[in-house]
Amino acid sequence: MIELSNQLEEVKGIGPRFIERLKKLNIKIVKDLLWHFPTRYEDFSKIIKISDLKINQRATVSGIIKQVKLKRTWKRRMFILEALVADDTGSIKAIWFNGRYLLPIIKKGKFINLAGKITENSKEGLIMSHPVYEIVNQQFISEDAELTGGQQFDTKHTGRIVPIYPETKGLTSKGFRYLIKPILENLEIAEEFLPENILKENNFPEINEALNSIHFPKESGEAKSAKKRFAFEDLFLLNLINLQTKLKIGQQKAIAFKEDIDFIRKLLEKLPFELTLSQKKSLWEILQDMAKFHPMNRLLQGDVGSGKTIVAAIAALVSAKAGKQTAFMAPTEILARQHYFTFQKFFSDFSGGVGLITSKETKIFYGDGLESEIKKTELLKKISSGEIKIVFGTHSLIQKNIKFGELSLVIIDEQHRFGVRQRAELLKNEKSDFSSHFLSMSATPIPRTLTLTIFGDLDLSIIDELPKNRKPIITKVVAPSNRDKAYAFIRGQVKKGRQTFVVCPRIERTTDNEQEAAAASYKSFINLDVKAVKEEYEKLEKKIFPDLKVKMLHGKMKQKEKNQIMNDFKDKKIDILVSTSVIEVGVDVPNAAIMMIEGADRFGLAQLYQFRGRVGRGEHQSFCFLFTDSLSKETYRRLYSIVEAKNGFELAEKDLEIRGPGEFLGQSQTGYPDLSMKAIQNPDLVKSSREAAQKLLGDDMKLKEHPLLKRKLEEFEKEIHLE
Ligand code: ADP
Ligand code: MG
Repeated sequence: MIELSNQLEEVKGIGPRFIERLKKLNIKIVKDLLWHFPTRYEDFSKIIKISDLKINQRATVSGIIKQVKLKRTWKRRMFILEALVADDTGSIKAIWFNGRYLLPIIKKGKFINLAGKITENSKEGLIMSHPVYEIVNQQFISEDAELTGGQQFDTKHTGRIVPIYPETKGLTSKGFRYLIKPILENLEIAEEFLPENILKENNFPEINEALNSIHFPKESGEAKSAKKRFAFEDLFLLNLINLQTKLKIGQQKAIAFKEDIDFIRKLLEKLPFELTLSQKKSLWEILQDMAKFHPMNRLLQGDVGSGKTIVAAIAALVSAKAGKQTAFMAPTEILARQHYFTFQKFFSDFSGGVGLITSKETKIFYGDGLESEIKKTELLKKISSGEIKIVFGTHSLIQKNIKFGELSLVIIDEQHRFGVRQRAELLKNEKSDFSSHFLSMSATPIPRTLTLTIFGDLDLSIIDELPKNRKPIITKVVAPSNRDKAYAFIRGQVKKGRQTFVVCPRIERTTDNEQEAAAASYKSFINLDVKAVKEEYEKLEKKIFPDLKVKMLHGKMKQKEKNQIMNDFKDKKIDILVSTSVIEVGVDVPNAAIMMIEGADRFGLAQLYQFRGRVGRGEHQSFCFLFTDSLSKETYRRLYSIVEAKNGFELAEKDLEIRGPGEFLGQSQTGYPDLSMKAIQNPDLVKSSREAAQKLLGDDMKLKEHPLLKRKLEEFEKEIHLE
């Protein structure tokens, strides 16, 4: 018997070449293979009598091979295999180009099933070209076969509903069927880990049945409920992890910061603007959380430029007022510096001690107007003694063993990379029984259903409006023929003192392989001629704008270089900055009024939306140009949804629809299984899985009564790298 945990090498009949190819798909053990689910099915279940066949029909015929011929084409280059197959009503010709290899298989006198499209050929009448074939064992053919449409033959490829798998080079659907069928027949019974009442309530098939039906369903309804079960399973497990974490955090202790309205009011009075309504609401939610004796665990979501940073900064000041520390973390050093300087700008009189740590510099200020460089070791000492109350840096602040004296608040800007448990881990303090409060910020607008599942452990605050003084950004999709006009316009803006961002999809031209891979994932809307930053930079700097200051920024440059360029850009020493998506997150340059995006069709809508958010931050009218070389209607339709979108959330819904959650979030970032990513789009399933998880944990938080489920959950966590 075969077990789910068996290595594929241990399974009889899987040759090394298959193993090799499967490894490329990350399929190593039996379970991986069986969880490689069909994307769709082809219904070849009805065996049609040859005399009843019609042109363009997709059908299975069953008969005996009467004649086999190998013909050469007129150029004598190619062999065509022709087989005449007859049932009791007539005969049909099947042909395979380059079919010489089939000679030992397709032999006169054998019984065969052929499945595929019926076409017409002027000379021969109806034929089947490259049908799926399957030699069937003669002894199974009985009179009943006629009555049941041939279903009781134990076929893999014909005469049944046939699974179609996601394919790769060298591994066809036929190959997968060939591998999977015998494994299912010899599989050790798998243990059911879903509680029985959940199966019953949802009408789900039990796991062994589900496995059989998802691969080789007897009818299409069976495949559907099996798929639903597996999708539910993943969502259910994700929800269990999230909710369990949430419950655990709810049991931890944290410092409670009493609300102090007067203090907050004074802080707000220092700001040169009034908070928007949703900023106030979010701030209030955060302060309520921080006033509790349990850690806050909250996600603050809001479009780029909606003013999340200031809200988070106030939370940090509340903690500092009570003498406690905050770690304020950004995804890049550029952003960490920016947050530090923003903080300094608004709260220059804050005397609690503020520090900045990056790989290249360490700074502090104490609100006395003096800022000083300080040795890193000195700063670390001041952090561990608790003298410095607010520390800005990258994620390494927490990860690289920087010891805080009295850390009580952890703020993370733009995090998707942390798993649930990892987030929970961040809150724990080595030095005390008190966990930190946790505030996570994200400018990636994520549809609510998705947030509930992916970030289900977090409470949610949303800033869904921009500060009032913002002018809408004028957005245009630019066709190749209008390129020169757009360049002329940009030149005019630069002459007026404005600055321009240019974003390109990749650093260098992609290799063929990468293009193939990308093509496979993006499918229809890919523009294979990828604009490269370096090329684009050279073109703009030498040919188009030789009189302007053009510079380049990309992720492979040294940090110091990047900082230098960003600073020069901020100081208006650069007119046009050509970059990859490194500038995607958070950079604030109010004088930049033009965002020009090359190969716009290559980016997701949510990403484009983020890019656009880099401009329109100052008093000037801003513009966004979406350049595309694609002339397809689909591309235009997609890009115009940016022009029309009212806010990021609306766009995110659309993007999710078009690309699916995997692409949407970046599969590599989430590591979530494909099926659950798709399932997240099904609101009913999201809801029922969440409710089921809630109910179960309500009765049995530690899953003591469900040991199998508990074990499964641990495995699942490892699989999706949440540990
Ligand atoms: P986010 O982090 O959400 O992208 P920021 O916090 O960086 O946005 O804010 C963008 C800009 O808007 C900053 O320059 C900030 O000072 C300013 N800002 C924030 N809130 C307001 C407001 N209520 N009114 C006017 N300007 C604001
Ligand atoms: Mg920001």
